[in-house]
Amino acid sequence: MSPIELNKRQEEILQIVKENGPITGEQIAERLGLTRATLRPDLAILTMAGFLDARPRVGYFYAGKKNTGALTENMLSLKVKDFMSMPIVVSENMTVYDAICHMFLEDVGTLFVIDKNMRLAGVLSRKDLLRTSIGSQDLNTIPVHIIMTRMPNIAYCEKGDPLIATAKKLIEREVDSLPVIIEQDNGLEIIGRLTKTSITRAFISLAETHEL
Ligand code: ADP
Repeated sequence: MSPIELNKRQEEILQIVKENGPITGEQIAERLGLTRATLRPDLAILTMAGFLDARPRVGYFYAGKKNTGALTENMLSLKVKDFMSMPIVVSENMTVYDAICHMFLEDVGTLFVIDKNMRLAGVLSRKDLLRTSIGSQDLNTIPVHIIMTRMPNIAYCEKGDPLIATAKKLIEREVDSLPVIIEQDNGLEIIGRLTKTSITRAFISLAETHEL
């Protein structure tokens, strides 16, 4: 891993903490003539990269180590189960018209389709529905199983998977969403939804992990 390059302000913060730690974010800001809010991203980077340790109600300490990969460690520890959201499922025989209404009502970009045993049968994206809508067919007569992407071509993940692995899968498969599943004897049970938004949420949580 390449070492993180610190900017001038971050070097200054490091120096202040080295000489005066433990010291609160407020006190560091005062010494630099800046507000606490301005310093927040710098402090987050310095703690995530392992230069500083942060203890609630005490302050920042110099960790005495160079970039040890704390950010990488944190990133690798994030799991699908902590960031997945509720899956929205529809039956194979729902019409395309109803599926479009459902997508709006539920405010999601992807619907998962289940078979009569409630197991994963397919995926319906916005573009799948849009493609069908610009044809001349009657949307009230076409069931979604005709137009969905179906098993076994569906990319999915499990709740214990590292989030970074699913982020990679989203990019490699060029999709917006993965069903989170549990393997059962008669197919895949859907227990969650992992989307690009989930990854964005995780990205923000990483930045907030070490804030005081
Ligand atoms: P959009 O169509 O809104 O850009 P996606 O990029 O997610 O959304 O979908 C692109 C295509 O990939 C669609 O045909 C969709 O059915 C399919 N698809 C979506 N999610 C998956 C998945 N997890 N596994 C396999 N195919 C998928």
